[in-house]
Amino acid sequence: MRKKFVAGNWKMHGSIQQNAALLDGLKAHVSGLVCEVVVCVPFPYLAQAQSMLDDSVIEFGAQNLSEHGSGAFTGEVSASMLKEFGCRYVLVGHSERRALYGETDAVVAAKFAAAQAVGLVPVLCVGESLEERQLGLTAQVVSRQVAAVVDLLGVAALECSVVAYEPVWAIGTGVTASPEQAQDVHFAIRAQVAALSGEVAGGLRILYGGSVKPQNAKELFAQADIDGGLIGGAALVADDFLAICRAAA
Ligand code: PEP
Repeated sequence: MRKKFVAGNWKMHGSIQQNAALLDGLKAHVSGLVCEVVVCVPFPYLAQAQSMLDDSVIEFGAQNLSEHGSGAFTGEVSASMLKEFGCRYVLVGHSERRALYGETDAVVAAKFAAAQAVGLVPVLCVGESLEERQLGLTAQVVSRQVAAVVDLLGVAALECSVVAYEPVWAIGTGVTASPEQAQDVHFAIRAQVAALSGEVAGGLRILYGGSVKPQNAKELFAQADIDGGLIGGAALVADDFLAICRAAA
């Protein structure tokens, strides 16, 4: 039985004061939830997350990392630096990084490898654009994005990872994939992995992301292959994020 997993992606939002209020709000009501709860915060707030979540079941992570171990890469942050701050998770290949910062499948796979090399758990984000969906390319695009990691590292690498299916057209738009649309893609991802290892596929948590709200979370999370969510906007409001966690639990 896969434990449900809900991660908040704060993106480039927050301030020390806002974060403190949000984390206090989450901490006050998170106990008793049977799903894993994670917040992925901007780099400057890792220390704040580390100290505020020290006594909490809430885990934290980052939203990006360098594919390089160390060296002359001005402005970059390495996997071992994240590890030093107590991160357990790191997003790799979020569609905003792919679209705005030119991250290719190969770069995303290299970041996934860099994260695992120090014991971080990568959350591999995959998903098609609206145009790709309209052209009937959803399965092809998502399978290519997953394959980039499997081809580099082997299917066993997915064992210590999480996959997040996030249709680009649903992120931050208020348009959510229907539970059936999401389930179809989640099923296809699991089948792709199962073709290589039934065991890895059976244990792999595949999250849905894209305009998840308290109102639609329960129906999405009830699908057989949806193991939780990656939440953007609604993760910035403690009551909404908690309601989504409860829907998963
Ligand atoms: C995201 O940023 O990963 C995301 C899913 O955003 P939103 O929930 O706001 O669509």
